[in-house]
Amino acid sequence: MALRVGLALGSNLGNRLNNIKVARNMLRGIVDPESLYLQAPIYQSQPVDCASDDPDFYNTVIEIDYIGEPYDLLRMTQGVEFHMGREAVHAYNAPRVIDVDILYFGSGVIKEEILTIPHPRILERRFVLQPLNDIRPHLILPGDTVTISEHYEHLDSDEPPLTLVQSVW
Ligand code: AMP
Repeated sequence: MALRVGLALGSNLGNRLNNIKVARNMLRGIVDPESLYLQAPIYQSQPVDCASDDPDFYNTVIEIDYIGEPYDLLRMTQGVEFHMGREAVHAYNAPRVIDVDILYFGSGVIKEEILTIPHPRILERRFVLQPLNDIRPHLILPGDTVTISEHYEHLDSDEPPLTLVQSVW
């Protein structure tokens, strides 16, 4: 049975817009083209916990229908990252061609270092919460009682507002 799966995409190295599109196309290639697919606008955000001269990120969130196991999807998303030239060993929060994070996997909960679902930092990062709110404001994450839109309204973060890069992409 297909599950709704949320993925966060980020890039702050090279042609960021193109990197996000290439990753999106590869990820869409693994799902049924007839299935419901959602994508948020692409935003520009200042890097969090990175060197001050690192380039800004382009970020977005997509939601796909996925049939398979969470670890298969993780292998797939890491395959996309490596295929696009992300180094296997990289410094913590170093600039990256592409970063793909699994935000949620249906109602699944996994608490392993290699895979934590729901992703532990969804609710504290504007660059994830804002695009997720664009496509799934009524979503309540597994283990939670509050909708994404309520979390977004009450987000207490010192990150500056995001800049809209492209709504349709
Ligand atoms: P990052 O450098 O931020 O992309 O982190 C990658 C590491 O986080 C990998 O070793 C993954 O196995 C691990 N990880 C844990 N939970 C997740 C998740 N929900 N989505 C993607 N990677 C995850």
